[in-house]
This record gives sequence, structure tokens and C-alpha cells, in this order.
Amino acid sequence: MLVSKILEKWYLENRRDLPWRRSDSPYHIWLSEIILQQTRVAQGTDYYNRFVERFPTVTDLANAPMDEVLKLWQGLGYYTRARNLHETARKVVNDHGGIFPRKHEELAKLKGVGTYTAAAIASIAFGEPVALVDGNVYRVLSRLYGIHDPIDSPYGKRVFKEKAEEILNRERPDIHNQALMEFGALICLPRNPDCRHCVLSHLCKANCEGKTNVLPVKEGKVKTKARFFNYLFIRHKGYTYLNKRLGNDIWNSLYEFPLIESETPVDYETLTSMPAWKVIFGKTQPEADFHPRTYRHQLTHQTLHCSFYQIRINREPDRGAFRYQQIPLEGLAEYAVPRVIDKYLADLHQEGIL
Ligand code: SF4
Repeated sequence: MLVSKILEKWYLENRRDLPWRRSDSPYHIWLSEIILQQTRVAQGTDYYNRFVERFPTVTDLANAPMDEVLKLWQGLGYYTRARNLHETARKVVNDHGGIFPRKHEELAKLKGVGTYTAAAIASIAFGEPVALVDGNVYRVLSRLYGIHDPIDSPYGKRVFKEKAEEILNRERPDIHNQALMEFGALICLPRNPDCRHCVLSHLCKANCEGKTNVLPVKEGKVKTKARFFNYLFIRHKGYTYLNKRLGNDIWNSLYEFPLIESETPVDYETLTSMPAWKVIFGKTQPEADFHPRTYRHQLTHQTLHCSFYQIRINREPDRGAFRYQQIPLEGLAEYAVPRVIDKYLADLHQEGIL
């Protein structure tokens, strides 16, 4: 309760005077929340004022032609929100007599009203003790309590929701929820939080441990993909073979050794049984270095595991299937190759193998 009391006092003294805060109408709170999902407060305020002026009540909005709603929404983008706004207004009028449901669960069933917006309406308009967790709240809680669980993981979301419920002032959820969000928006900023003037600094774990710049933790949306490249450094009478990469994949226009890409790491025996092997060598029986050198190469969205096999052949494979350029070994350096191949060749040089 201590945190809640401090935050509420700070909020009552420092909150911004925003038009929807002068109202406890569920219609106004719903409208502001939907608009603020699309834009920042400054621009959102203009849209909010225009909507309220044109459609003073949910019934006015429900009775308006869809085109007019879209026109008023113009510039906010993501027009599905505007269509949902209109549809929900009609539902509130047709199914609920123009009065918004009071309970969080009922509100969350309305189109375009997720659990967050439902909690905002239920707590601010109707005083239901339900905690609100948005980006600002994740940030404040993770720093204040030193929570390192990723805010974008299902487990992390549960942890933050529980913490938010635990510190909720159940007597004044309206003030409490708005205070927490406003504090995140004005003081506990994503970059450069104003810890020097923060009323919670003495309680804040991240501040005490110097971790404000590492919290909150995100798992990250960008997943890296693992790829397994098996390169064949084929040697025949002082020559080797290269291929020019074309198309939309990585390394467009660079040269590389004949490549067999596999879904997983493979050993030499598996490699020789793959259809691509037969395409490259036909009936030729190559002699290979069975112990490939493997290099890990990191790209932005891909981790490449590149295995290089040295392969000797006694006669050239059937030219029909063998589509690679024949290159004298001493001329290899003239070709632009990816860094990982360059590294492999440099290692061979250093060891006197090439
Ligand atoms: S001390 Fe800094 S990091 Fe901690 S809650 Fe306050 S502003 Fe946020």
C-alpha cells in the first residue's frame, strides 16, 4: 500500500489535465483508450475532442453512417479499430440500451475491447478493483521490484499481472491505475528515467542496483533462424569450383563453393546420401576429408553453421550436372566470397594447406 499511496499523492499533484480525465463516463474512457492505442496523447487529444463534439454520446456514434466515422478517424490509420468502434457503439445501443456493461468480463466481450481496455473502463468508470497493465506499467514494476522476467513472454506477463494486482489500491483502483500509468509516461521513462526527482527512488530496486538501463527485459520479437551450410571445396588438378549466388537469399552476387544446405547438422555419410550430392557428383566417387571444419557465422536474423569439406576428384564430373565455374586455385583470391569462406581460406593458408 505504501507504493500506491506515494504514487497517488504524486498523481494528484502532477497529472496532466486531459479531457477524458474530466469525465467518468465509460463512453469517454473507451473512446480515449481506443484513440490512444493509435497515437500519442498530443495528437490523440485533438481526435478525441473532434469525436466527442461530433458524437456526444454512444448513441450518436451508433447512429452515424460508417463513412462519417471513418472520415473522422482519418489519419490515425488501422481502420479496423474505427470499424470496431462503430460496431461496438451499435452493440451497446442495441443490446444494452445505450449503457455500457459495468463488469470487466462483460466489457472484454465487446468488439475491439481487449482485456486492457476493459480493465481501464471497469476500474476508472465503475471502480472495479482490477489492475491495469500497459507498457508504462510493465516498465515501472520491472524497475521498482527488480523483475527480470521478459515482459513479452507469457510467463512474464503473468508475473507482472500478479504484481500489479498485489499492489492495487482496491478502494481507489481508478486513481491507482491512472497514477501508475501517468508515472511511467512522465517520470519512469524508457530512456533516461528521472530517478533524481522520483518519489519512489528510495524503494526502487533498479535504481539502488544501477539497473535502470537493463529493465524491463524483452525476449525480443526477432527470432534468429539457424541454417546449416555444407560447403564442398572440390579440388581437381590445381582447380576448384565456384558458384555465383543469385536471387533473394543472402550474399547475392558473391561466390561460394558448391553448397548443400541441410535442415539440421549432418555427417559426411548422410551428406553423400542426399539428392543434392548426386546432382553435384553424378557417378564420380570423390575422396573426402571426413572431418569438416565448422564455422559459426552470425547474420542479423540468421545463424549460419558452415561446414567445409575438402574433396578430391580424379576426373571431372559429368558437365551436364556440374554447373559450377572451374577456377585455378591460385586465382581464388580474385573472387568476392562471403566473409566466412574468406576466413576458412585464410586458415588453410596459415596452416600451409593451400
Ligand atoms: S527510481 Fe528511476 S527507475 Fe526507479 S521507479 Fe523511479 S524513475 Fe523509475
